Amino acid sequence: MKSRRKFLQKSLVSSSLLIPMSWQAESFGVGRNREKHKPLILSTWNHGMPANDKAWEVLGNSGSILDAVEEGVKVTELDLTNLSVGLQGLPDREGIATLDASIMKGDGSCGSVAFVRQIKHPISLARKVMENTPHVMLAGEGARQYAISEGFPVEKEELSPGAEKAYLEWKKTSEYKPIINIENHDTIGMIGLDANGKMAGSCTTSGLAYKMHGRVGDSPIIGAGLYVDDEVGAATATGLGESIIRICGSFLIVELMRQGRTPQEACEEAVKRLIAKNKNIENIQAGFLALNKDGEYGAYAVQPGFNFARHHRGGKSLVDAGSKFKGNG
Ligand code: ASP
Repeated sequence: MKSRRKFLQKSLVSSSLLIPMSWQAESFGVGRNREKHKPLILSTWNHGMPANDKAWEVLGNSGSILDAVEEGVKVTELDLTNLSVGLQGLPDREGIATLDASIMKGDGSCGSVAFVRQIKHPISLARKVMENTPHVMLAGEGARQYAISEGFPVEKEELSPGAEKAYLEWKKTSEYKPIINIENHDTIGMIGLDANGKMAGSCTTSGLAYKMHGRVGDSPIIGAGLYVDDEVGAATATGLGESIIRICGSFLIVELMRQGRTPQEACEEAVKRLIAKNKNIENIQAGFLALNKDGEYGAYAVQPGFNFARHHRGGKSLVDAGSKFKGNG
């Protein structure tokens, strides 16, 4: 589909972690993915490639899958060309960029921040919430104040050039249509499995463009945008957060895997459930990405266009996920 269809819508210390430098795009068919890889790092969309590169390097250096998923998505949080993650992302309808992020380890530890302003790395703030507070989630001004107390720099509140241009264009009509696009520029969710079977995940976004001020999506909600359990597997989501929250998408996938589904089957079942529980489905895009503790993985979306980055010892690829609907070509 070529047209712009918008929808509501470490140098490597361990040579064992060296992977071929070249990569290619692949298509990911249902049923052909019984491959197993350990370690394995997956993340949503094509911006997952540079993020996974960093995560893979950090895993090779530190051996920590948690460090890997944090450092990986920080690359995207700083990517000025990406208007859906980080402070450079598209703002809410008041012209303010507000960020959501979550991080989780396979032992149940988790932390998140929602509706946070002026903090460049919400994923690192989410990790501080996980490690240094008795809480799981901080929101808004409280999250920002906590960031200051932890020594995070507070950025000037101004839109990036790309976001400002888009926002001024949007203001001409101020049409309230949350936009989910299928052009590989959405939330980054990253899930990873190390060589010893430990897992971690991260998810970070500026959320829906031109959302209502105060709107929070699925990404900082543990169980919706991200869920990780070392006993079973991990899942993350991208797309229209409201549709994902309604079905507790990531938790649902992990629970389906616990009951014996493969990651692919679990992602497909979650898409089916999402379709059943959401109206106006033709205007909704949502995509899921999952892996299990054996290193099998899967991905599936409502609409075509969803892809994910996959790094393992054998190589790295950008892979097209399957979708329930096939689109208009
Ligand atoms: N899931 C994100 C949200 O609803 C949006 C996205 O994936 O682009 O905030």
